[in-house]
Amino acid sequence: MATTLTFLGAAGTVTGSKFLLTVGERRILVDGGMFQGEKELRKLNWADFPVPPDTITDILVTHAHLDHVGYLPVLVKNGFHGPIWCTPHTRDLAFIVLRDAGFLQERDAEDARLGGWSKHDKPKPLFDSQDVEKTLPLITPVDWDRDLELGDDITAVWTRNGHILGSASIRVQTPHGSVLFSGDLGRKEHPVLRARETPAGADVVVVESTYGDREHMDPRNMAHEALADAVRRTINRGGSVLIPAFAVDRTEIVITVLSQMRRDGRIPRTPVYVNSPMAASALDVYKNAVTELREDLDLTDIMGDLQEVRSADDSRELTSGKHGPSIIISSSGMATGGRVLHHLERMLPDPRNAVVLTGYQAVGTRGRALLEGAQRLKMHGRYVGVKAEIVRDEEFSVHADGSELVDWVRDLRPAPGIVYCAHGEAEPAATLAARITEQLGVDAVVPSIGEVVVVEPPSARPAAETLAAAAAAPTTPSVEEAGAADATDSGLETQGSGAGRPVTAMAAVPAQEAATVSLDGLSLTGAQVEADLTPHRDADGSLVLEGTISIRLRGPLP
Ligand SMILES: [Zn+2]
Ligand SMILES: [Zn+2]
Repeated sequence: MATTLTFLGAAGTVTGSKFLLTVGERRILVDGGMFQGEKELRKLNWADFPVPPDTITDILVTHAHLDHVGYLPVLVKNGFHGPIWCTPHTRDLAFIVLRDAGFLQERDAEDARLGGWSKHDKPKPLFDSQDVEKTLPLITPVDWDRDLELGDDITAVWTRNGHILGSASIRVQTPHGSVLFSGDLGRKEHPVLRARETPAGADVVVVESTYGDREHMDPRNMAHEALADAVRRTINRGGSVLIPAFAVDRTEIVITVLSQMRRDGRIPRTPVYVNSPMAASALDVYKNAVTELREDLDLTDIMGDLQEVRSADDSRELTSGKHGPSIIISSSGMATGGRVLHHLERMLPDPRNAVVLTGYQAVGTRGRALLEGAQRLKMHGRYVGVKAEIVRDEEFSVHADGSELVDWVRDLRPAPGIVYCAHGEAEPAATLAARITEQLGVDAVVPSIGEVVVVEPPSARPAAETLAAAAAAPTTPSVEEAGAADATDSGLETQGSGAGRPVTAMAAVPAQEAATVSLDGLSLTGAQVEADLTPHRDADGSLVLEGTISIRLRGPLP
């Protein structure tokens, strides 16, 4: 019996968070997220799930963003019928987000069919509203900071992580070891929500790495000047400002920031419209979540002085531009769909307008294309020229930056045995892994999709320790001393010693136990490590061990 962790998404990429815990016979999934962005990635949403969904007993959800909940209806459609556990506000927001997603799936398939621009003869949605309505009753709220008993000596606990309303890190304790999933980590402070808390540490930690290679700048007292300046310039020349924003959380923050700017006289009193039924519903949830909001938040700021556009008719009128210069907040935030597309179609060709991007723009999305200076954008089967000013306000991020991620890992007690850097594109994930290894002395690896690793306490990883000992050996004064120290510490055996003579090092792991070996981003399950090393002195006098290290593995490579 053992516990393993399989990375089914958000590995080497940001979206599609799905982590499968196999505890003996039990299968528990952490997050059921959808792949978004590039077509190659989105195709993965259509692949067969690696295990029959009806063999999964529970799903634990970190938060209500689509890249964490958007695949749940597909799992339910294919047989999952167990509880989906999450915090109460994640449940409220998931209802809104999933209903909207079901509607968009159906509508996009229908539009593609009518417009004839789909490559499929009969474009089908990934899931429909019926699948969503079957999913929602399974969503079950949990208490914050209290162990949830899942049976078979498995417990899970949710800790606030300051990303969006209801968002959490989840720590799962199994009989064989513990795993902590960071979820999407917020910054040290959130503009609207109370600050995140530090969860208990675990043997294995899965940390997000969206901005693993970036540092957010500190704007001091002129926060969001890029946005304020764009608003002033645009309104002055008679244009309107479009702010594509994720309906959940980002819209609330943008409204709060605009309210504060108006109060401080930094922008004119231009009408502000929120054109997204989903954002309007999410805003209601935020306004009522008083216990989760910052204590110093002026509640009138989040209410804003704004016009909510809920009906399709009102939306069409607003899109037509009859209202004159205004600020329009609309979703989706990466312009992958939703009403923001209609605004972009009308506003992009006019150089008086501005589009202010406020969030992460995944590779392959229209938002990313705008950011990278695209001259035209394809929407609803047509190309539209980009003449409007494109502005980026980078201060809206609700993802921790590289240093904040390292600090989060550093604060964990006990320290992790190994860290997997997930939920990041290749470069940021690798950068974060290198920083964690260098600065904290903790093994950190970037997993790949489909990879399986063992969950166990650090003490059960002798093979990895032997590797570390072998790597450390050259810095010790002599082979004899290194061998003696290692022999007592980790059961390492050495034969022969002294400069110029070969040394054999061996560490055997009991055959029934598996040990995980991390090598250059690959995690392997190994049974035996052997090293044949020849010591010699370098020109500068340092002792060098040269030779081969072999790891004997049971079974085929993963
Ligand atoms: Zn998120
Ligand atoms: Zn995410």
